[in-house]
Amino acid sequence: AKAQGKNCYELYSSQLTKEAVQSFQLEQDLRIAIHARQLLLHFQPQFSLCSGELCGLEVLVRWQHPEKGMMPPGEFIALAEETNLIIPLGWQVIELACEQILIWQEQGYMVPPVAINISPKQLLEADFIEHINSILDRFGIARSQIELEITESLIMQDPDYAIEQLNLLRHAGYRLAIDDFGIGYSSLNRLKQLPLDRLKIDYSFTRDIGTNPRDEAIIITVIALGKSLNIEVLAEGVETEAQQAFLKAHGCDSVQGYLLGRPVPEQELRILKVA
Ligand code: C2E
Ligand code: CA
Ligand code: CA
Ligand code: CA
Repeated sequence: AKAQGKNCYELYSSQLTKEAVQSFQLEQDLRIAIHARQLLLHFQPQFSLCSGELCGLEVLVRWQHPEKGMMPPGEFIALAEETNLIIPLGWQVIELACEQILIWQEQGYMVPPVAINISPKQLLEADFIEHINSILDRFGIARSQIELEITESLIMQDPDYAIEQLNLLRHAGYRLAIDDFGIGYSSLNRLKQLPLDRLKIDYSFTRDIGTNPRDEAIIITVIALGKSLNIEVLAEGVETEAQQAFLKAHGCDSVQGYLLGRPVPEQELRILKVA
């Protein structure tokens, strides 16, 4: 039994070492990827349920890894957060998004608000506002063209500073959205203090429309909350006609999901209208 225990331990420890080495390797690769500009963007359309028109685009980062191929963000964003690489990564995403908006505008397209995911770590940086302003100014992009998507965890980390930072961004002209709404714990009292344009209902609620009455009740409540606070409500992860019909019937403002459009590279996005 003792010998067996030892074997187990060795197996376990070598497994741990292997994982540590892999994650260190991935960190090095990601560091290089940011410098070598192996990151690229996909864009997912958002549609108004009232008019059916395109009302926004969400930017989703992709990593073209030289050996592993296209890596989804689920496989590197958490590591980027742990290692602070999320900060240079986040700046690169903002630059790439501005570059693309400018290209579309020069081609004569009307570009709806472009939503960018911002890590709490990046948003809490002291010079965040000056830095993002300087990027937009460099590309000549209006601030109202950009929607910053933040999660509730930001507000939980340092509520007073977060609220101050969000107010400054709103006054500077940026649109603000709370991402994955419903899975965090921000109190209604905090929500009332935030200068928001949009709430994004998390996929985990949308998914259960038609099967889980509790999730349906939460969705209906969030839509009502949005209406009373004068904040637009978007449901993400809409995959079926039935889900969309439910959301429309209950007054949800807009939707995003595989039903109407997957995230795609810019050359596959063929729905922009000429200005
Ligand atoms: P998120 O912000 O909640 O983004 C939505 C995710 O749901 C995206 O996954 C998108 O591809 C996926 N999705 C969209 N429609 C549907 C649908 O109908 N069904 C299903 N099952 N999924 C759908 P993705 O691109 O893998 O991104 C995952 C997460 O990675 C994002 O979640 C976001 O938290 C993070 N992320 C992505 N890009 C960035 C970025 O540039 N910066 C930061 N900080 N985080 C990012
Ligand atoms: Ca998002
Ligand atoms: Ca989301
Ligand atoms: Ca999510």
